[in-house]
Amino acid sequence: MQLTYRPFELELKHPFTIAKFSRTSTPLLLLQLTHEGYIGYGEASMVPYMGESHLTAVDFLSKVNVRQFKYPFDFAEIISYLDGIAPGNPAIKAAIDIALHDLEGKLKQQPCWKLLGSDPQKMPVTSFTVGIDTPEVLIEKLKGAAGCKVIKVKLGRGSDKELIKTIRSVTNTPLYVDANQGWTDLQQSLDMTYWLQEQGVVLIEQPMLKTDLDSNAWLTERSPIPIIADEAVQRLPDVQRAKGIYHGINVKLMKSTGMYEAHQMILKAKELGLKILIGCMSETSCATLAAAALAPQCDWADLDGPFLVSNNPFKMPEFADGKWVLRDAPGLGASAK
Ligand code: MG
Repeated sequence: MQLTYRPFELELKHPFTIAKFSRTSTPLLLLQLTHEGYIGYGEASMVPYMGESHLTAVDFLSKVNVRQFKYPFDFAEIISYLDGIAPGNPAIKAAIDIALHDLEGKLKQQPCWKLLGSDPQKMPVTSFTVGIDTPEVLIEKLKGAAGCKVIKVKLGRGSDKELIKTIRSVTNTPLYVDANQGWTDLQQSLDMTYWLQEQGVVLIEQPMLKTDLDSNAWLTERSPIPIIADEAVQRLPDVQRAKGIYHGINVKLMKSTGMYEAHQMILKAKELGLKILIGCMSETSCATLAAAALAPQCDWADLDGPFLVSNNPFKMPEFADGKWVLRDAPGLGASAK
């Protein structure tokens, strides 16, 4: 097996602002594993606040011995091998895991979603995210959401109601709300959940600091709409800890170290009665298709990466009725442009 990779800067169509920062591009590492004439594609999306970069990714890869990856792949063993090299580094581990899943599908001549037991008929609609912005820019951004059946909006900068009212002035599309830990006052937050329910909001992501378990649990107990853990949940052991504090969890491949552990997290969440949102970072079609392969096992999807970027090096996957379409192509179904 041969491993190759290249750094890539993924450009965003609009500067992306959330409760704590703003950015215009995201460093990626695009990775390929070649075996018996097949190429498995993988991708690490390294959003700055997660602490990974081109440098850390390349350093991690320099320690990976591809001879550890024996087909048929034992993904549990592979993740534990990667965790043994260094803790953290979830995005570069995800790139390897995604490429191996793609490769496995191609070697077995089966689509990844089928190997993971997903039913394409159960694919949830995916949301289109708009960052925090002025009303004029927001309305402009919403034009890019045509075809999407849900809009996700980033709150937490003190002008939350104005932002929602601006969106409601142009569309009645259901909303997901992400506060990115930006809410602080308990009673105001609870009042806000009721107000948001009246505005057609379906769920709220990470309202308060991930370390403030009591406040998140207090709000979850009283909120009329589901409260979903995002920053508080990264890998499998975090799922158990979310029980009793949140209604559900946001699973992302770039936090979970890829498809194998994301799948384990989904199974665990179901066992615990937690709802599941599958989300993404700024990603190309490659990681989006990897998450889409698991999305039918989740309650909601927020897989809008390819809509928000301007230099996706892969072809745009098929999108219909607000949903990604899973096809019978072996592996992920990602093809380079
Ligand atoms: Mg979030």
